[in-house]
Amino acid sequence: MSEKKGNNKPVDLRKMIDSICKKVIEYNPKADIDLLMQAYEFGKKAHEGQLRKSGEQYFTHALVVADVLSDLKLDTDTLIAALLHDVVEDTPIELDEIRDLYGEDVALMVDGVTKISDIRSHNPETRKAENYRKLVLSIAKDPRTVLIKLADRLHNMRTVEYLATERQLSMANETKDVYAPLAHRFGLSKIKWELEDMCFKVLYPDQYFEVESNISQTRSDRENQIEEISTPLMDALEKAGVKAEIEGRPKHFWSIFNKMNNQQIGIDKIYDLLALRILVGSKVDCYHALGIVHSLFTPLPDRIKDFVASPKVNMYQSLHTTIRTPRGRNVEIQIRTHEMHERSEIGIASHWRYKEGDQKNAIDFGNMVNWLRQLMEWQEDIADPREFMESMKIDLFQDDVFVFSPRGDIFELPKGATPLDFAFEVHSEVGMKCVGAKINGRIVSLGTELKSRDTVEILTSRNASPSTSWLGIVKTSRAKHHVRRWIRSTQMDQSVKLGHDILERASRKANIPFSKDTEFIDVAQELGYTGLDMMFAAVGRGDLTAQRVLNKLHPPEKKKREKLADMGKDLYAKVMRRRVKGVRVQGMDSMMIRYARCCQPVPGDQIVGVITRGRGVSVHRTGCQNLEGPTIDDDRLIEVCWDVAEEQTFMVKIIVTAEDRKGLLADVTNAISQKGNNIHGGDFVSAKDGTAKVSFLVEVRNLNNLEKLIKAVERVSSVDKVDRFQLT
Ligand code: MN
Repeated sequence: MSEKKGNNKPVDLRKMIDSICKKVIEYNPKADIDLLMQAYEFGKKAHEGQLRKSGEQYFTHALVVADVLSDLKLDTDTLIAALLHDVVEDTPIELDEIRDLYGEDVALMVDGVTKISDIRSHNPETRKAENYRKLVLSIAKDPRTVLIKLADRLHNMRTVEYLATERQLSMANETKDVYAPLAHRFGLSKIKWELEDMCFKVLYPDQYFEVESNISQTRSDRENQIEEISTPLMDALEKAGVKAEIEGRPKHFWSIFNKMNNQQIGIDKIYDLLALRILVGSKVDCYHALGIVHSLFTPLPDRIKDFVASPKVNMYQSLHTTIRTPRGRNVEIQIRTHEMHERSEIGIASHWRYKEGDQKNAIDFGNMVNWLRQLMEWQEDIADPREFMESMKIDLFQDDVFVFSPRGDIFELPKGATPLDFAFEVHSEVGMKCVGAKINGRIVSLGTELKSRDTVEILTSRNASPSTSWLGIVKTSRAKHHVRRWIRSTQMDQSVKLGHDILERASRKANIPFSKDTEFIDVAQELGYTGLDMMFAAVGRGDLTAQRVLNKLHPPEKKKREKLADMGKDLYAKVMRRRVKGVRVQGMDSMMIRYARCCQPVPGDQIVGVITRGRGVSVHRTGCQNLEGPTIDDDRLIEVCWDVAEEQTFMVKIIVTAEDRKGLLADVTNAISQKGNNIHGGDFVSAKDGTAKVSFLVEVRNLNNLEKLIKAVERVSSVDKVDRFQLT
């Protein structure tokens, strides 16, 4: 196979652990080196005889992982957990033993990175999602788990070439989709970049080498240009008394490739290949330096970003500006303090970094961890593990837009986010009460995609509530979660109410006294429901028939004849009975739905649902005159929306008013047929004073189709007007 397999040079494990210990003592003289060495011996023994695909001893992997983490200057517990992270998964050693020897913290971290191995599901996708779920839960409990998992993935990607091509591709894809975004989310940008570039190399080798060679060929030219800016800049900073370091900033390949792809441009057109970074001593110096940069070079007005005052969710802080050089090139400049810089590279790891005097970092990492805790809380509502994966991925993907509130607060949202997502980001109540939105002062629809720098204002109303259709609009898992929960709870309320009504009516019809007393409670229990409401809800949703409940209560003796009598009464009802699947009622697909005969809605019509006593929901046109009557209470109205298949058809009665003449019926019938619509019947309604009213029951697909048909009939000679039927 590959010649790389020949690399069987024995690795000196002892040398590796010594180098780690040396580093640890340097940054933390009080560290428990004995315990670290003990964990080393333990892990070495456990993995004895196992080999990596590269031919190396397996334990080198654990040592590299610990080594990466020692570069981040992490505490001994994390390093011990790193040394032992594969012991439980790949050797007979049990977690309890690790807990006894090294404590709860270490055990928790090791458990967090250990995959669930007992096969609870045969579906590999489900199993994978379950493992992510477990990992996320562990990270929420102890975020150091993510550091180990990322270092683990880093080494696995560095040695990915030893795997079969198919495994290489799947590991690179998983890394790109889950682990690199995870690194980003926790502010570990250095690891993120390395992971992404390694994925790039595996997934798009040709493009990778193209970018790589181009970058190295143009390096000296770039360095010259940087020199032309940094020299006068350094002078000016010095004169102003700002202590600063300037460095050229290498762009990583994956981001260059992405820019080329997104903007459909060649590598020569990517202006921020030229980039530099100014590191200063204090926050004030950041702004001072920014002023100096702008006094020397012309800034591009729309590219100034202040992440110092408003840090990103992952705690990234920096000032960004892009200037134009005298040679007409654009250069992106980042300005931040040394501390901000360190944090920008290692993110959440800086929280566990050993610090002299053991001062914990002043920055609050609550945001990063809170997000995970929330995700865990939400996921309890999510039954399908793939749905959990989806919502995690959405949140991880930080292809972000930055928008502002009217007060100037900056909000970070995933690309494709809408004003509704923004509303929920501001506060869940703002989202729940949202009725409209303005972007940059102009009213927009709630589904409008936000762009960076938009100022978003949310209009709310105290009486407003979410709509089912919002699920199709919102992008963030936070917003999705709130909308889903709302739908579920209102659905529940309505199903209970509806089920109650249906049962009440059915009881009355069967001459059974209806009360919520023990008899019904017994039936609910017998049918396996945890309470009366749950049984009502099942009836309301259509999962359980009223008849079944009544049969339990009073086993049937005589047969029902009324039911048959009901059927076949009316042509319209007969045709429509088979077509109940055309609307969604607050997401309740299985509810009993009928189309109101009085106004005969078709897709495209504005519609509203009316909860009818005992007969489910009837769907009316919003303009239907019967809705205005006193018989319909407001609380029986519910929101419904169309959800029909293309090929589905609807019955509508139209009334044609015309000057009576010979052949009129035939001509109208002909006009309708020519439009391709079926006619299910025609009738003279009235004929007096030479004016005829004729009704036709026609089959149409939607409003557009119906309107075209009406136009066609109106063109028939002597036809005066065509109306849709409305029963009053
Ligand atoms: Mn591992």
